Amino acid sequence: MSTRTMPIDETKIIALRGRLRGPLLLEASDRDAFAESCRIWNGMIRSRPALVVRPTGSADIVECVRFAREHRLLIAAKGGGHNIAGTSLAADGLTVDLCRMRGVLVDPVHKLARVQGGCLLGDVDRETQLHGLATVLGFVSETGVAGLTLGGGFGYLTRRFGWASDNLVEVEIVTADARVLRASAQENPDLFWALRGGGANFGIVTSFTFRLHEVGPSVTAGMIAWPAEQAPEVLATFAEVSATAGRELTLATNLRLAPPAPFLPKDFHGKPMIGVIACHTGTPAQAERDLEPLRRCGKPIADQLVQKPYAAQQMMLDATQPKGLHYYWKSEYLPGLSAAARETFLKYGARIPTAQSQIILFQVGGALGERPADDGAVGNRDAQFVFSAAGCWLPDDPNAQAHPHWVRDAWQAMKPHATGGVYVNFLTEEEGEDRVRAAYGANFARLSAVKGQYDPDNLFRSNKNVLPQR
Ligand SMILES: Cc1cc2nc3c(=O)[nH]c(=O)nc-3n(C[C@H](O)[C@H](O)[C@H](O)COP(=O)(O)OP(=O)(O)OC[C@H]3O[C@@H](n4cnc5c(N)ncnc54)[C@H](O)[C@@H]3O)c2cc1C
Repeated sequence: MSTRTMPIDETKIIALRGRLRGPLLLEASDRDAFAESCRIWNGMIRSRPALVVRPTGSADIVECVRFAREHRLLIAAKGGGHNIAGTSLAADGLTVDLCRMRGVLVDPVHKLARVQGGCLLGDVDRETQLHGLATVLGFVSETGVAGLTLGGGFGYLTRRFGWASDNLVEVEIVTADARVLRASAQENPDLFWALRGGGANFGIVTSFTFRLHEVGPSVTAGMIAWPAEQAPEVLATFAEVSATAGRELTLATNLRLAPPAPFLPKDFHGKPMIGVIACHTGTPAQAERDLEPLRRCGKPIADQLVQKPYAAQQMMLDATQPKGLHYYWKSEYLPGLSAAARETFLKYGARIPTAQSQIILFQVGGALGERPADDGAVGNRDAQFVFSAAGCWLPDDPNAQAHPHWVRDAWQAMKPHATGGVYVNFLTEEEGEDRVRAAYGANFARLSAVKGQYDPDNLFRSNKNVLPQR
């Protein structure tokens, strides 16, 4: 691989290095560490930064922001590197890889956790679950807290406690003018509003303070799988249980080819299946009642719904999402599961193009809809489900060109049944301004005004960009 042209004078880089506590990495001299910082989940992304810094704290980040401003360099933070659009890699610019900032401090008395900007979801669950506490985070533990929360963030606890960003109490951030600011309901409330869903548009977050809730440590959770021929019946039961069970239960369902997982019979591997993933954080008796219709539905090939640690459930899907494969998704929010939406799901679920692709419905709703639509920039409080046609294939797949067609066809077919909003964190590389506007709906104008106030020159634009209002 050829080394990229360095857009900055070497003496300037040496000077920056001298002002930092954490390492500054260049592809030419720090090949392995540089490559590791550039390794992200979506192997389809081609952009690479010119330099990488791994800060040890806010002071290093201040230096990076000053440097990027001075040299008009694109700058982006890297949290978990899980953004499908690969926005943590600042093309020919500076990536601030927060991998050395993964501390979590739990205050069990006040039920708060202060989480550094480079934490992965698993870092947080690991510490909070020591106290039987948790906050809302997503389904795959290797995802970054920062990207997920700044875009909204949903998971097994959303129906009870809203978006991840609804659980924020305070954020510490380095803004475009290289100041370290705190944002909360009391301090810089306009910035706090924007950070609750407005993505990576406002600066580099050094820490988040989350409200915690009593969850687990044991929950009833796991997965049931059926042959795809039973999908209509399973999907109908999924819709019924979603509509009737208490908020302690959250479900997701997917159609895919059975992976070679040890809990699935060997002769079933590679065959079409429908799965229902469940997490119930209520009592075991309540869980049994709520899950009973699913347990007696059809003839499953595997029933793995058991009592298990909440932290283990949070990691259950990790192995299905390896780094480096090629991923291409299209998503929509659904206001419910109409017969037409279900039919569309089944139709495109029957045409899964590769062993790694899937079509998914995540249940949300519940507490989301209890707050006003403009409580934080995130919006989309009318969503009951998140739909995703999730294409995935090996980097050397000879039919790679064909697979995105299935994703786009499934998405186009589902669009008439959607709310019109979209999850900003699921937008792919090529999705631009119209989709960003759709993601924020009526909150977009206010978001753009706050961007104009805190980042008028659009320094932070390696993201799903909200242009500053002048
Ligand atoms: C396998 C998988 C599972 C997922 N599951 C869920 C889920 O269950 N629920 C859900 O809501 N979402 C989910 N997502 C989507 C996820 O929320 C987004 O991909 C999110 O952007 C990931 O955050 P990250 O920190 O890992 O990403 P990165 O790629 O590191 O960063 C994403 C964006 O945030 C910026 N950023 C990173 N750190 C900071 C920081 N400290 N301060 C300011 N900006 C920063 C980056 O510059 C970039 O623009 C999933 C994604 C994947 C790939």
